[in-house]
Amino acid sequence: MRKITIIGAGQGGLQLGIGLLARDFDVTIVSNRSADQIACGRVMSSQSMYDMAVGYERALGLAMWDSECGPISGVHMRAGGGDGDLMIDWRSPMRAPGQSVDQRIKMPAWMREFERRGGRLLIDEVDVDAIERHAAQSDLVVVSSGKGEIGRLFELDDERSVFDRPQRTISLTYVHGMKPRADYSALNISINPGIGEYVNFPALTISGPCDIINLECIPGGPMDRWDVASTPAKHLELAIELIHTYFPWEAERCAGLRLTDDLGTLVGRITPTVRKPVGRLPSGRAVMGMADVLVLNDPITGQGSNNASKCAMVYLEAIAARDMAAFDEAWMQATFETYWDYAQWVTRFTNAHLLPPPPHLLKIFGACGGNPEVAARVANAFDDPKGLAPWYFDATEADGFLDSFVQTA
Ligand SMILES: Cc1cc2nc3c(=O)[nH]c(=O)nc-3n(C[C@H](O)[C@H](O)[C@H](O)COP(=O)(O)OP(=O)(O)OC[C@H]3O[C@@H](n4cnc5c(N)ncnc54)[C@H](O)[C@@H]3O)c2cc1C
Repeated sequence: MRKITIIGAGQGGLQLGIGLLARDFDVTIVSNRSADQIACGRVMSSQSMYDMAVGYERALGLAMWDSECGPISGVHMRAGGGDGDLMIDWRSPMRAPGQSVDQRIKMPAWMREFERRGGRLLIDEVDVDAIERHAAQSDLVVVSSGKGEIGRLFELDDERSVFDRPQRTISLTYVHGMKPRADYSALNISINPGIGEYVNFPALTISGPCDIINLECIPGGPMDRWDVASTPAKHLELAIELIHTYFPWEAERCAGLRLTDDLGTLVGRITPTVRKPVGRLPSGRAVMGMADVLVLNDPITGQGSNNASKCAMVYLEAIAARDMAAFDEAWMQATFETYWDYAQWVTRFTNAHLLPPPPHLLKIFGACGGNPEVAARVANAFDDPKGLAPWYFDATEADGFLDSFVQTA
């Protein structure tokens, strides 16, 4: 039986590990936190996931919350200023709903499921020496440690990395008591140009159904004031104040908010990066990175967990197809390129939303307001951003894309 060791028990590592068990691999996952520590810890993400990514979980028998977790049925995008006047306002249902299950629920349940299906779970803070030991005893080591320091084993890819610093200060607030939308539950995106974004959607957390408030604040701008949020109560207060001030069209839904729990808040910054897939250990052995270790995006478009699920499936198929051949560097590189063939579009989509929108993108958003088919194409891109290529990223292609709707109308 071939032996695979995975570092990190998150979305990518657990999904890959559980998938490999079903293909008769001997799998060890090493996590620096136990299931109980994760369950009792701070929120880590807002983890909205869409149909393709959740579908991969379903295929592995891992979508355990389909009946409990409220759906994210559509996308609503608005842009305006503090005066409440909207310059962009469109909405569309998605072809299939998404969902967000708090990782404090999901990862501990998957860790137990991994062990129940025959996997070996070790709790250890893995460093380079530990990776060496695992590499000596494994056919393949996959490093899926997310934003953990150990990911620096993988060299930055300067050509594929667009930014060298965080583009947003990110704040999460998990709440009960948000007034439901009048139409359908949505990935509810509000943009205040030059100031920041407010994204919210329903989710399932440890105390039941909730809503997650994601505030994406331009560094140094008027929303970037999280150093004053010294207590959970002050964090909630500031989140509500920012929504009232910069996204007033959403204020009414926030009249009765309370925190889900004192660890239902998070503030941080991420530098979006792409890294090279092969890590070289001092012994000369090669290990492979996956998901956030290699392709780390700002959460503004909610793609990281989706990416991790898709990366896990690409790696699962590639590992299974290897039969008894060596997991050598050329195979690692080729496997990552298969994933990058998809992930590059996620990165382009996400990076496009971190920068001021070029005129052709404003034209597309304007067209979404008047044409449900165009709106549906953009809404469904949160499930599969590859569907945006090439028209989302190029003015001439955008004109051709929009004209095609006029002609067929
Ligand atoms: C504020 C915020 C909001 C987000 N919202 C969304 C969203 O709405 N939708 C979406 O799709 N994505 C979202 N994401 C991104 C998403 O959470 C991640 O992309 C996803 O969890 C990545 O999965 P992963 O398996 O690569 O890493 P993780 O899920 O981060 O798992 C890595 C695991 O490795 C462990 N680890 C780290 N170092 C070590 C070590 N040295 N030894 C052993 N174990 C180690 C960690 O403890 C962790 O359990 C968001 C992220 C943030 C920060």
